[in-house]
Order: sequence, then C-alpha cells, then structure tokens
Amino acid sequence: MFSLRNFIKLKYLFISVIALAFVLSTLISVYSNYKGNLKLMQEQTLENNRVYALKLAETVDKFIVNSKNTMRYSAEELAYDFENINRLQEAANRLYLNGDTFSSVLIVDAEGNIMVNAPQSLGEAGKKVLSIKGLENYDKHEPFVSNPYTSPTGRKVIVISMPIYDESGVFKGVLSGTIYLYDSNIFESILGEHPYENGSYVYVVDTRGKIIYHPEKERLGVDASNSEVVVQLLKEKRGAIVAVNTFDQPMLAGYSQSEATRWGIIVQTPYDEALSMVGQQVASVFKIGLPFIIFSTILVILLARHIVRPLEKIADISENSVKDQEMKKLKGIHAWYYEVYKIQEALIHSFSVLHGKVNTLKEETSTDSLTKLLNRHALEKKIKVLTEQQKNYTLVMLDVDWFKSINDTYGHIAGDEVLQILASKLKESLQEDDLACRYGGEEFILVFTETTIEDAYERVESLRANVRQMICPGGKPLTFSAGIANSQLHGEELRDIIAKADEALYQAKENGRNRVEVTHA
Ligand code: GH3
Ligand code: MG
Ligand code: MG
Repeated sequence: MFSLRNFIKLKYLFISVIALAFVLSTLISVYSNYKGNLKLMQEQTLENNRVYALKLAETVDKFIVNSKNTMRYSAEELAYDFENINRLQEAANRLYLNGDTFSSVLIVDAEGNIMVNAPQSLGEAGKKVLSIKGLENYDKHEPFVSNPYTSPTGRKVIVISMPIYDESGVFKGVLSGTIYLYDSNIFESILGEHPYENGSYVYVVDTRGKIIYHPEKERLGVDASNSEVVVQLLKEKRGAIVAVNTFDQPMLAGYSQSEATRWGIIVQTPYDEALSMVGQQVASVFKIGLPFIIFSTILVILLARHIVRPLEKIADISENSVKDQEMKKLKGIHAWYYEVYKIQEALIHSFSVLHGKVNTLKEETSTDSLTKLLNRHALEKKIKVLTEQQKNYTLVMLDVDWFKSINDTYGHIAGDEVLQILASKLKESLQEDDLACRYGGEEFILVFTETTIEDAYERVESLRANVRQMICPGGKPLTFSAGIANSQLHGEELRDIIAKADEALYQAKENGRNRVEVTHA
C-alpha cells in the first residue's frame, strides 16, 4: 500500500531540518545585520553631514572675516589721506588687483558720492551711491555684508563694505568690495568640490531661504524657505534631520548657519542612496561568507549522513528475513552512538530468539519426536541432495523382530523405551555423511554414503551383534532383521531402492529373522 512513511527517510528529514535551521539563521543574521547597519548608517550619515555643514560654515566665515580684515586695514589707512584722490585710487587698485578676492572696489564719500572705482573701466566715479545695489546701507556707518544679488553684468555678487573714520572719529565715507559668488573661490572652491560619492550634495540659502548656491544651476534663486530643512535651519542654526526635499525624496541632512553671512549651508544625502550602500555592504558580506556557507553545508550533509547511516543499515536489515547473513551484518554495524547501539542490541537479541525458534521449528518438522532420528520427509530431502551430488549410497532397511510381543507383554511405554535405546545404538554406529531414519513403527532405514554393499553388510552385521547385547524387558535379547539395496545397482528412485531393501528384509524375516539379506534384484 502506498504510504508516505515508506519514502520519508531519516536522512532526508535530518538534512532538511538542518538546512532549514541553517537558512533561517543565515536569513535572520543577514536581516539583523542589515537593520543594524541601516540604523548605524543613518546615524553616521546624519552626523557626517552635520559636521561637514559646520566645517563649511566655518570656512565661509573665515573667508568673510579675512576679506573684512583686509578691508578694515585699508579703511584705516585711507582715513589719513582721504582728500588725496590718487592715493584713494591706488588703494582701490591694490585691493582689486591683490589676490583674487574682489571683483570691483569702490570708495564713497560721506555724502554718498563715488570717489574712485577699480577697475576704472567701470566708470562709476562721480555717481551717487544710492543707485548702486548692495550699498543701500552705506549710511549706517558700520561694517556690512550684503545679501547676494545679481550685478548689472548678470553675475551673483555680494558686497562687503567698511566705514572710514578719521582719527577723531568723524565718518569720512565707505570702502566697499564686490565678490563674485561663483567665479571667485568662495563657493566653487569651498562648496563645489564635494568629497562624497554617495549622491550627497551641498546647497546654500540666504537669510530669507532663497537658494544662492546649488550644484544644479537652475535651482539658483528658488525660494526654499518652505522646505523642512530650511525651516529647521532658520529655527536652530545647526543640527541634522531626516526630511523630504522639494521632490518628496527623503534626505539625511546636516545644516549649519554661517555667523558672518547668516547663510544656511545644507549638506544632504538621499536616504535611498545611503540605504543602497548598506544593501551593497550586506551583499558583499554575504559574498564573502558564501564559500563558508557552502563548505559548512557540505560538512553538515556529510555529518548527517554519518549519523543516519547506522540506522539506515539497521532499517535495511530489518526489512529482510532473519537469515544468518543478516545477523552477521547487524553485528557488523558500527554503532557509534547511544540510540543506534541500543537498537542494535535489541535487534540482535530479538533476532537470536527468533532464530532459535525457527531452528527448533525446523528440527521439529525434520525429526521424529520419539527417537530424534530423521523422519521420512527429512530422509527424502537428504537423499535428494545426495542424488543431485551423484553420490552412491547403500540403503539398509531394518525391522525389530517380534516387537509386537514386547508391547503386548510389557506395555507400549516399555516398547517406546526399547525403540529409543535402539535408535541411540543406530546413531552411534553412523559415520560422517551417514543417515538414520525412523521410517515408521519399529522400522528404520540407515543410509551409508559412498559405501559398497559388502562394506554395508559388514557394518550391519556388527550392528546386529551389538544390538543383541541390549537386554529387553523380560531378559530376552533384542534382535532385528535387515534388507540391503544399493543406489547404483538397484534403482534410480529412492522408492525403488526402498522397495528392493524391503524385499530383502522380507526375505530375512522369511529366513528366520535376526539376519541380514541383500536384494537379489
Ligand atoms: P515381526 O516384525 O518379527 O514379524 O514381528 P512384529 O511383532 O515386530 O510384527 P510387526 O512388525 O507387524 O508389528 C509391529 C508392532 O509395533 C505393531 C505395533 O503395535 C508396534 N508399534 C508400532 N509403532 C509403535 C510405537 O511407536 N511404539 C510402540 N510401543 N509400539 C509400536
Ligand atoms: Mg514391522
Ligand atoms: Mg517387527
């Protein structure tokens, strides 16, 4: 009958369970590794971006402070020579030409008239300052950094202006310098060269949240004051946040406000990029681990097979019958752990009990219960083997003389005892390969293999003399009569030979009993 039980084997179960445990634990460790790394990566990226934004803000501040210092130094010098136009022009030229910080320099008097400009080609001298963007605050008489604005030539600029006071503290005018945001080093060299390769970028907003620097030029001038990061920046000045950008992309952003300009510098990394880095990391860890996984899988399978093998063998043996060979195999199994050892022991025990029973049964079916000699059936089988082996044999049929009278006089039980004693005498007379059989009642057959009739005759004669020594109940000697026939001389089939021996036996009885006759046929 079909049953799943016949197909599910311990080996496969075992390997499957181990493989399952293996796969699950690998998955769990990869997953927790991934999750842990994700968190770490997010925290690290936020921290990196925060620190980087802070650094950039400091760098911008330093640049502005340096520029302001240069201006202040020049303004102090100019206060002494403010009436000397040539000196003013010289100072303006020097500021314009020295270093590449300023793209233009103006000196304005206390009334707002432009006195000199560098480069002179600008031709602003003589004009009123009110018409010039970035100098609207000149009358505030203090150092000032303007918001970025677009110059008449279409370029983004900021203006740094420095008041000029004479030694008695009288306001003389203003020294102002223009800095191109993109052409000078302020943005491109500070912000443009971004060291990350994970999609991070930097952008800058002014005090009102307008974008004044962005790697994508078309974003310049866009109002970003509603973006989550910028709102946070204007509130907090520095920090880090996970926020969506204007395109609804989640970003890991760090931000910091420059002290000098109050611009907000924002460094941000797309969340997905940071995430994919973690994915790549986990994948590479997995790649490195793969040979080990394969190796340990093979090891586990080999081990599982080794553990299961003894049980498999036992199962195989149990399937077969209880043969001697199987028993040997069973004993040969290397039971290297407790359960197999116990099963092996139990099987050996039950097999041997079973074996014993089968042997007894076999014996019971092949021997005569009273005399323990072969029965008729067993004799036939043994003779068949001899015939197959083409062995010559001489068959003796013998019958106890006057047995009936023993029974009648001393009873059946005494008769049985006589039969048993006679049987043991017959057995004693046997040589190797000879057979003794109780053919029925008080008739016996002896088979002498590879023995001539003459030799057989001799042996039966001496047996007869021997039996005569047996004293029967009542003190009379026990005698038998016997008939002899030979397999080669007297017939092909056993029953023919038996018939010939029986004839000779009859002859012996006829001739007065207690004698041996050979068939004449
Ligand atoms: P003879 O062979 O010399 O002609 O005389 P006999 O008395 O032996 O005659 P027969 O062979 O005809 O008788 C055999 C007797 O053996 C008959 C039967 O009662 C007895 N007998 C047969 N089987 C058994 C047995 O198993 N036990 C006992 N006690 N007697 C048996
Ligand atoms: Mg008889
Ligand atoms: Mg008899």
